[in-house]
Amino acid sequence: MIEEVIIECPFCKKNVIKVIFTPSHFESHTSKTSSKSKTVFYKTKEKYEVQSPCTNCDKSVNEIQKALEQGVRNPEKDKKVLERLKEQGFDLNFETKF
Ligand SMILES: [Zn+2]
Repeated sequence: MIEEVIIECPFCKKNVIKVIFTPSHFESHTSKTSSKSKTVFYKTKEKYEVQSPCTNCDKSVNEIQKALEQGVRNPEKDKKVLERLKEQGFDLNFETKF
């Protein structure tokens, strides 16, 4: 299922970016060898296709697309998630990068 949605601009955080969103889903791939065929199922990544530049901060479609693909880190948000996990008693043994 593919749908058009409005998401937050990765740069200015306003909900103005129009994207075509393709959720992650399973696809099958059949490979044939001489004696047998093998079907492999794999999960595709969710995908955003940016349709419009940001009307608020004027970032171009390309810039927004790139930021979405690379994932714009939000250290504040990450920190809050980590804090919440700690409160719940999770043992966080991995190194954090902020
Ligand atoms: Zn923006």
